[in-house]
Amino acid sequence: MNQIDINSVRAIFITHEHSDHIRGLNVFAGKHKIPVYSTKGTLEAMHEYSFVDARVSYTAMDDKPVTVGEVSVDKFRTSHDSRESCGFKINMPDGRKIAFATDLGHISDEVLTSAYGCDVVVIESNHDVRMLQNGSYPYQLKRRILSDCGHLSNEACASILPNLVKNGTTRFLLAHLSAENNLPELAIQAALMSLKSSKMQVDIDFTLSVAPVQTKGDFIVF
Ligand SMILES: [Zn+2]
Ligand SMILES: [Zn+2]
Repeated sequence: MNQIDINSVRAIFITHEHSDHIRGLNVFAGKHKIPVYSTKGTLEAMHEYSFVDARVSYTAMDDKPVTVGEVSVDKFRTSHDSRESCGFKINMPDGRKIAFATDLGHISDEVLTSAYGCDVVVIESNHDVRMLQNGSYPYQLKRRILSDCGHLSNEACASILPNLVKNGTTRFLLAHLSAENNLPELAIQAALMSLKSSKMQVDIDFTLSVAPVQTKGDFIVF
């Protein structure tokens, strides 16, 4: 399957206002009349940058979940250098839960607690630290990515996976891989090594896959 029926898209949830997450949003949401949800801070920032479109309905999420059809969506805070970034927990009608956490410099207790008990966890495995350090990015940008409000390294991501399996996760999707500072093989290798050292076996205790590298994304079926 490589096509998604646009009419089946009922809502768009935005984690934060950085351009890699909102580029194309208004054209798409405006054309297809799809409502957009995010935190109050993210929507305020989008307004300040005049990144809004009169055709689009924007709703700030509060502490109550947003219901879209039979699915409900909660947000949780993430640590990132934007106004009010967040991740999402999606509650499916059959009781399954999905956590979505990308763009975070470190994993807070709030992120962990939200991901515990989720069958599927989509989590950032942004960079290989050595590739980033030896790569061509300017020093300031490297520092930003490595900081507590930057992006999650392969190692940092891998380190929490065994704990998630112990708390009920069976499927991992590594996401938001840097095209410049990572390779899917390295992200997978780090994750598998960490899970293996906790005696957890791939395709028995969990499955693991990698989302298409950043900026070349496709849609993902849960
Ligand atoms: Zn960002
Ligand atoms: Zn991003």
